[in-house]
Amino acid sequence: MARKVLVLGEVRDGALRNVSFEAIAAGKTVAEGGEVVAVLAGEAVQSFGQELIHYGADRVVTVEDAKLAAYTPDGYSQALLAVIEQEKPEGIVFGHTALGKDLSPKLAARLGSGLISDATSLEEAGGNLVFTRPIYSGKAFEKKIVTDGVIFATIRPNNIAPLAKDESRSGDVTSVSVEIKDLRTIVKDVVRKATQGVDLSEAKVIIAGGRGVKSEDGFKPLQELADVLGGAVGASRGACDADYCDYSLQIGQTGKVVTPDLYIACGISGAIQHLAGMSNSKVIVAINKDPEANIFKVADYGIVGDLFEVIPMLTEEFKKL
Ligand code: FAD
Repeated sequence: MARKVLVLGEVRDGALRNVSFEAIAAGKTVAEGGEVVAVLAGEAVQSFGQELIHYGADRVVTVEDAKLAAYTPDGYSQALLAVIEQEKPEGIVFGHTALGKDLSPKLAARLGSGLISDATSLEEAGGNLVFTRPIYSGKAFEKKIVTDGVIFATIRPNNIAPLAKDESRSGDVTSVSVEIKDLRTIVKDVVRKATQGVDLSEAKVIIAGGRGVKSEDGFKPLQELADVLGGAVGASRGACDADYCDYSLQIGQTGKVVTPDLYIACGISGAIQHLAGMSNSKVIVAINKDPEANIFKVADYGIVGDLFEVIPMLTEEFKKL
């Protein structure tokens, strides 16, 4: 059944986030041959429209307003509700990002629809669109279908492959004028902490350090390895609690959930709360002095050794590639 599907594009630091392209790919599956309309909200986002079309959107609708320069639940829900009212989509797909996690339940409630959040895959099976999502901190997966109303889902970054970029694709980029008013929250300033470079939640390679890293300085070899591999540095809560790094790097049940292609856990014991945030990574490498460490139970490759000896060796070898 062909559907019209609305997909949210996210712009951050002057570029479209990769999850926007993944959401378009998911949107295509939901659309089952129907139209995929990408929506962009922000202060000046028109210029990103064509790139969304190159990644598979059929058309792009923008809502531009200085009040949308920074995300606020009120502002973005007013913008999105106006576009939903205009487009009347039968499917809606957002990235399961901080923004998507905050905005999607609010919109679903306003639309009176259900929400499948944090889907890691979707497929057509037996005449239904079946979404798979992790439950119990990633220890099990459940499959969900929507039996009635709008199919509204958020997708976990790094799980659904984007379509190949096709610069020959073309489509309309139009704008909707929405009066953004009565904002109950206003972002006055954004204070950035620690992380620079590759975004942890979208990184293809993550080098994560735990209490075994022993100090703030101990993270330096991890950063060098991450730089060589074009990856990002993450951390266990143990490392954050010990003040070796900022909490924005924390991965796990109460931190970020990540699914990189390669996760290298260095000096991390593998507590269940840490595994909740990384056990779905495609390839897991663990470096730990303790051969009995729990992290080895989820690792595809284990290195028993001192991380301060092993990591520089890995960095030197990867530099040769
Ligand atoms: P440790 O458990 O102390 O492990 C350090 C490891 O380093 C050891 O295995 C040791 O063998 C190894 N090591 C030491 N020196 C070296 C060396 N030189 N070379 C190689 N290996 C070495 N934790 C999270 O990570 N994320 C969360 O989101 C999270 N949420 C939580 C929520 C709740 C409600 C609770 C109760 C806990 C949560 N925790 C979380 C904490 C979690 O239970 C663990 O305490 C924490 O993950 C331990 O961090 P760690 O593995 O770095 O430290």
